[in-house]
Amino acid sequence: MAVRTIVVIPHDALNQKAKEITDIDEYVRTLATDMCDTMYKAPGLGLAANQVGEPVQLIVCDVVYPYADAKDKKKEPLIIINPRIRRSEGECVKEEGCLSVPELDVEVKRAACVQVEGVDLTGKSLMVDAEGILARVLQHEIDHLSGTTILDHASALKRSLYRRRIKKRSRRT
Ligand code: ZN
Repeated sequence: MAVRTIVVIPHDALNQKAKEITDIDEYVRTLATDMCDTMYKAPGLGLAANQVGEPVQLIVCDVVYPYADAKDKKKEPLIIINPRIRRSEGECVKEEGCLSVPELDVEVKRAACVQVEGVDLTGKSLMVDAEGILARVLQHEIDHLSGTTILDHASALKRSLYRRRIKKRSRRT
């Protein structure tokens, strides 16, 4: 088990377009396992590789475990390599937070349902139909892979206030 450091804004990896994964090698397998450990430890509902400073197209999420009853807690992370949104439907606005954008909640308009395709760790293609919280988490993590965070979804005013706040914070430390 290896918990990695989650990078926070401002950090280059969060603004980078993640590279497509062409080989599922030891590097990718270790990264995926570490990302799951990091997500459960945080705790968070999802994590994109950019958030641990590795801009490659890999996301992990688990929207069941954090809400599961203590007696049937089982970690079953969804790990998707090169995820793409194939279809999206409807609209839903909700507040979101992000482990890489601490102390900020932003209302983000997302599709209500999505169909995501990608590849699993064994190289098999997979397709996920999602609604509700899973649809939101998937769209949030896929956003990270294109270098987009919730800060980009915030209003210009909220964005500049937040930037000023983190500047002050980094001066203090
Ligand atoms: Zn995030």
